Amino acid sequence: MKQYTHAWLALMAIKRLNQEIIPDNLKESCNSLVSWFKSYRDDVVKGAWYPDAVIKDMATSHVLKFSPKPNGDKRFKKLPGNYYFSKRWNNFSVDANAYEIESGNLPDRCEALAHSLIDNLKMQYKEHKGSPIAPTSNHVANLFFMLSHYVADAHVPLHCDVRPFSDGKHLHADIEKYWDDKVRKCYEIDFKNKRFYYDKNGFPLQKANANDLVMSFIENKIESRKFIFGWGADNNNTWDFMSAICQHSYLTAYKIIPADKDNSLDWDEFLTLNVNPDFDVYSKELLVDAIESIAKVWIHVWRRYLDWRN
Ligand SMILES: [Zn+2]
Repeated sequence: MKQYTHAWLALMAIKRLNQEIIPDNLKESCNSLVSWFKSYRDDVVKGAWYPDAVIKDMATSHVLKFSPKPNGDKRFKKLPGNYYFSKRWNNFSVDANAYEIESGNLPDRCEALAHSLIDNLKMQYKEHKGSPIAPTSNHVANLFFMLSHYVADAHVPLHCDVRPFSDGKHLHADIEKYWDDKVRKCYEIDFKNKRFYYDKNGFPLQKANANDLVMSFIENKIESRKFIFGWGADNNNTWDFMSAICQHSYLTAYKIIPADKDNSLDWDEFLTLNVNPDFDVYSKELLVDAIESIAKVWIHVWRRYLDWRN
């Protein structure tokens, strides 16, 4: 995904954790995370882009690439029941249903960052102000934003599909541009200072006349969708959960781009493929799932830190 999409997804995850629909037993920890975050939100455009701009581990940690393989692995981890990725479970093309993993380590990266975040929060709490080994809050916030980047990338179907759609007609880039254009079209952004403008509640300010069906669906679901704290089925941690996301993302790639297509497929032809439902439906579902996943991974980190403190 592109820079402003990443920042927007992270800000929307903060917004998600601030909703009435959050279960009562999570409200206190969600509120404390949201108010902590608000001090650092102006750094999200830079921080959530750090993995692409500076770390540059695109070929390894931003992806988990699958390919269909006859007699390959048929095990798919389940996602929490509120996931759109999961809702389409039974609708996937059969030829993608057995797979092997070709490259990438995205779930490991997310697990490692989540652990590192908890360690940093503990160190910060334990050490006195000015201690040479205490991380700053800005540093901790940046780790949260970086984590959101890897979590978000997992929801991009072409980050989980080994077919080379980043070459040839660059369909991968065009899909990500399509989403980024929507963010730019629908929200007030201060490009000069690389920050979003905020509404009266402190979340990304929507343009009054934007009128985009994908984005208004997402804004609506942020408020109304049921929040499930758990990782889904027998998933136990960030790694299990992100592995499940990557598997569903891979299946989605075969749903939106049939197996007989190669990288001569361009954006215009992609739009004529007549997938059912159409690409806008997939866009709104996978973007709202990405926001849910960032919120979920973050609140798990935060709660583990709070549990340790108490
Ligand atoms: Zn990336």
